[in-house]
Amino acid sequence: MSGQVARQARSATQPPMQVGVLGFGGLGQAAARMLVPKQEMMWIAAADQKGYAYTGSGLNWDECVAAYQKGSLGYLEPSGTLSNSSIQDLIQQAGQVEGYFLALPNLPNTFMAEVARQFIQSGWRGVLVDAIKRTSAVEQLLHLSDDLQAAGITYLTGCGATPGLLTAAAAIAAQSYAEIHQVKITFGVGIANWEAYRATIREDIAHLPGYDTESAHQMTDAEVEALLDQTHGLLTLENMEHADDIMLELAGICSRDRVTVGGVVDTRNPKKPLSTNVKITGRTFEGKISTHTFTLGDETSMAANVCGPAFGYLKAGISLHRRGIHGLFTAAEVMPQFVR
Ligand code: NAD
Repeated sequence: MSGQVARQARSATQPPMQVGVLGFGGLGQAAARMLVPKQEMMWIAAADQKGYAYTGSGLNWDECVAAYQKGSLGYLEPSGTLSNSSIQDLIQQAGQVEGYFLALPNLPNTFMAEVARQFIQSGWRGVLVDAIKRTSAVEQLLHLSDDLQAAGITYLTGCGATPGLLTAAAAIAAQSYAEIHQVKITFGVGIANWEAYRATIREDIAHLPGYDTESAHQMTDAEVEALLDQTHGLLTLENMEHADDIMLELAGICSRDRVTVGGVVDTRNPKKPLSTNVKITGRTFEGKISTHTFTLGDETSMAANVCGPAFGYLKAGISLHRRGIHGLFTAAEVMPQFVR
């Protein structure tokens, strides 16, 4: 049997990886829906702000969405529990979860690091993957690197679209060059209405001149709507504080000042306002200056480009964890694995 055939035969007989999704808003729901047809992963746990759902035999997506629309996953019968400390309670209940995708808002900007600390203190061992965006948020996780390792947790950060898919593409494209001059990420996002992705939109507003994470966090829904009315639903973002920069620096590809991120978000139209792309400019060993461009298909949604990579990194993280490799990694240093 060839190595590849042997691997396929093994994966066909292995039980699916048991995974959870924390946060059940726009991305959390899309993530769980993406898992429905997958053979290699089974979705058994989820939490929102007011409750959680857990069953070892696997959660049903439609039933979970119906419960969430009533106010929380906690209303799911019979597997839901209402709780104001849903993450904490779920970790205690669901010891068999091998890995979680953290589809949580990072508001305040310290929230994801606090969640990581909760996992460290709980004694749970497994894999965590986030799609966090800000450089300063990834820096907080870097400080937890030793604690994660000691706790037996494999944590992969920045594993969405940007940072994530596009940062990883830049890391691969960089291999053609002897020196990297510039990495320029430009994204276009189109969503039909902002309420489907409240945290994403608030976190994007925090990058606009005159706003920060704290003021965006405090905005009421009516204030967000008033701002979007003024801009005809568009958010135009430049020179964002995005962790693609620190991730490429840590991977030894270029200094962070050579990485720029910006884009346009249309909150009233699912069509992308522009094609998402990353341009990597460098000098080859022969002295030629050139640019590689990686452009995402316009038909792919934000949810597809965030949740697909997040689970690809979750699978990669689980294989590292099973080999005893723990600690903090970024999307620029580990290759995602395709989930069948
Ligand atoms: P959302 O507002 O739609 O949903 C957030 C969910 O988290 C809700 O279900 C809410 O109940 C839950 N939640 C909030 N506080 C909680 C708590 N204390 N305990 C448990 N659950 C809690 O969010 P979204 O728009 O899906 O965004 C999620 C995150 O994904 C954001 O941080 C966003 O920036 C990030 N994101 C990353 C990328 C990328 O490419 N890297 C792209 C888009 C979004």
